[in-house]
Amino acid sequence: MSMCPSCAAGPGRPFGHKDGFSLYTCETCELTYVDPMPTTAELSEFYREYHKTGQYRQKLDSKVRRARRRIRRVKRRAVGSRFIDVGCNIGFAVEAARQCGFEALGIDIDAVAIDEARSLFSDCRFEHCSVEAVAASGQQYDVVYCSEVIEHLPDVAVFLQAIRKLVAEHGLVFITTPDLGHRSVRRDPYAADFIRPPEHLLYFTRRSIERVMRRQGFTRVRFQQSLKPTLKVLAR
Ligand SMILES: [Zn+2]
Repeated sequence: MSMCPSCAAGPGRPFGHKDGFSLYTCETCELTYVDPMPTTAELSEFYREYHKTGQYRQKLDSKVRRARRRIRRVKRRAVGSRFIDVGCNIGFAVEAARQCGFEALGIDIDAVAIDEARSLFSDCRFEHCSVEAVAASGQQYDVVYCSEVIEHLPDVAVFLQAIRKLVAEHGLVFITTPDLGHRSVRRDPYAADFIRPPEHLLYFTRRSIERVMRRQGFTRVRFQQSLKPTLKVLAR
């Protein structure tokens, strides 16, 4: 058994099994993670066949509307108009941000999704690249938006380091991810449809996401209320 991918504490306690994968919960930071993690080659193979674009394209208008409500709430706390959506998929949150008055850029490592985003939302800017590449370029943003991405990543610490570099002074980060600690989930975690390795490798609670973000240098970590089992994190 390996160490916690967030805090590097020793072997976690068994959480359960799903589809041939084992999950463990870190005793120190409360993160639940797949162990062993699939290799990079296994994940590439999985994602080669995986395009959420079909399922996302349905209800596109309602997705833009929902993202616009979220982004308006974030905008009240934001200073400046530079917005980046990390892992933007087909771009509905980028379009929503544009409608809210941001200069919005969407990035994704999925080239098919970026092509689709460009054809759907021609007024927005999209780049096929990684967050690490943007961070290395020195670009910074007033709002860094990252919705339903971190649960897919084998190495959340490296990803959050890159996110941290993207945040301008006085900027903020908005992250969403499934909430394993939500009261609707605690009763029967397997009833939650988000437990699906190898697509989702990490399962956060308020405590575990706050700890990993603090480790990466975010000093203010707050949560928006959510009726659904989704963590909505605002951090600086
Ligand atoms: Zn841990």
